[in-house]
Amino acid sequence: MTAFAERGIEWHPRREVCELDPSRKVAILRDGGEMAYDLFLAVPVHRAPAVVLESGMTVDGWIPVDPLTLETSFPGVYAVGDVAAVGTPRAGVFAEGHAAVAAERIAALIRGTTTSAQYGGRGICYLEFGREGVALVDVTFFGEQRTGSLQGPSLALAAEKGEFGASRIRRWFGREWQTT
Ligand SMILES: Cc1cc2nc3c(=O)[nH]c(=O)nc-3n(C[C@H](O)[C@H](O)[C@H](O)COP(=O)(O)OP(=O)(O)OC[C@H]3O[C@@H](n4cnc5c(N)ncnc54)[C@H](O)[C@@H]3O)c2cc1C
Repeated sequence: MTAFAERGIEWHPRREVCELDPSRKVAILRDGGEMAYDLFLAVPVHRAPAVVLESGMTVDGWIPVDPLTLETSFPGVYAVGDVAAVGTPRAGVFAEGHAAVAAERIAALIRGTTTSAQYGGRGICYLEFGREGVALVDVTFFGEQRTGSLQGPSLALAAEKGEFGASRIRRWFGREWQTT
């Protein structure tokens, strides 16, 4: 909150935008209030893709899974990432963690071996603070429990964030990150 205040940024976590009036350049809020804007940036309402909703696997729009194994109610069928109701936020870093556990369990199934791989609910998120400073949020969601910490901002974490991105591009796409 201090970093927001230093930059003149207001945060309104409980005020929900439900409509825009572009002719007046105002956002209309669920509580009946209005907020003027110059540039409006928003993420549309998040839903599972139609193919998932039509599969019959969803409950309330998402696929229920065992949060430790990512297995759905259909034995041997796993759901990972945003479509899965795991109890973790819908973010890429959590999707990656789900996928590692599901992949290991599927591999064990195919090999006829066993595995103790379980999902632990941990994720990290880098926050850009400007002036090349980056902070790191490290959180674990386990059932109703949430624990976490905030480090930085620092230049060392900015370098770590660069390597985090580069390592994914290397591993997933087999190429180096082109910065130019
Ligand atoms: C604006 C924005 C910013 C974000 N920032 C961050 C961030 O900083 N850090 C972070 O960790 N996460 C971030 N996220 C969240 C992150 O993008 C998602 O959590 C992550 O992409 C989920 O991965 P996924 O594989 O489950 O789903 P997706 O990445 O959505 O992949 C699903 C894929 O399925 C495809 N698909 C849909 N229907 C069909 C079909 N019928 N046939 C074939 N393919 C189909 C889609 O085209 C899509 O490519 C952000 C999301 C948004 C919208």
